[in-house]
Amino acid sequence: MKELIDRLYEMEQLSREEWKMLLSHRSEETDQYARSLADEVRQKVYGNDIYVRGLIEFTNYCRNDCYYCGIRRSNKNAQRYRLTEDEILFCCQQGYELGFRTFVLQGGEDSYYTDDKMVGLIHKIKEKYPDCALTLSVGEKSEKTYSAYREAGADRYLLRHETADPAHYGKLHPDSMSCENRKNCLRVLKKLGFQTGAGFMVGSPYQTVDDLVEDFIFLKELNPEMVGIGPFIAHQDTPFREEKSGTLEDTLFYLALLRLMLPQVLLPATTALGTIHPKGRELGVKSGANVVMPNLSPVSVRKKYMLYDGKICTGDEAAECRHCLSRRMEMIGCRIVSDRGDYKSK
Ligand code: SAH
Repeated sequence: MKELIDRLYEMEQLSREEWKMLLSHRSEETDQYARSLADEVRQKVYGNDIYVRGLIEFTNYCRNDCYYCGIRRSNKNAQRYRLTEDEILFCCQQGYELGFRTFVLQGGEDSYYTDDKMVGLIHKIKEKYPDCALTLSVGEKSEKTYSAYREAGADRYLLRHETADPAHYGKLHPDSMSCENRKNCLRVLKKLGFQTGAGFMVGSPYQTVDDLVEDFIFLKELNPEMVGIGPFIAHQDTPFREEKSGTLEDTLFYLALLRLMLPQVLLPATTALGTIHPKGRELGVKSGANVVMPNLSPVSVRKKYMLYDGKICTGDEAAECRHCLSRRMEMIGCRIVSDRGDYKSK
């Protein structure tokens, strides 16, 4: 297995069979090998700098019904909210004062936010904070809509593909959603010049090694600027309430493989990873991650943006999260920088 890891490090393409070998013959030793090599690559490309993104969860209304997600349309127990424009701008202001230079607007697919409203909001944020990057994560839209967002000044877009295998995709989503459409959205986003983020959940129900092989092959081909992966964690009010979570070990190994396969990629150590293990995010960074995404949403709505059970940091003010993460990163020899943290192309 070490040989395959070395070949990834040398930037060679692995075949489907080789990916399958690498992903199915796991051992403590090869895991550690991949993770320390990935840690080296992260340092070589990004030094000890860790980028922060201020996450603003601005609406939990959603027209979709993904089986894993706590804010799915059918969850009648979710208390729905949307932030006003002023509230969103206030989050940005607080974030700016705390040194954030990227804001991420994430939400459900909420038709209240028409193209006009989104464009207006993007303009306002970019006008007030011209030195900041703006990332959107609001799901699947038409090319026309993505293009309007881009023209208004949005810089980046996060849209996890969730799983690259159509049959697996069908087990996680209702028939109204399709793997092909999601992948196509990602291609459109790249074409429009967004720094684009794809990604998948680790250990989602029914995920097989073959599905993961497809994820890595899809990501290699798409070559996104960002990849978000984190463990699946059940939410009590979803059809997957009884399913078990993705593991720390798997997530760290896949983070490492992603760093080796896409050396420049912006790779977050996610909140979900921090939720399944108290040192999850630190371990993520030591396995190749170079981004953290603390929450800037008002504390009053934090608990309502529950994608999965047990989400951490839902009671903390933005400043607490920011300082807590600084300390955590310093403990492992890294430092959070006040920088847009753009993709470093070679
Ligand atoms: N509506 C936006 C944002 C989705 S929330 C979009 O469609 O892109 C962001 C991510 O949270 C999702 O892409 C999914 O991968 C992750 N997520 C949702 N439910 C989850 C769960 N139960 N466990 C872990 N991650 C989850």
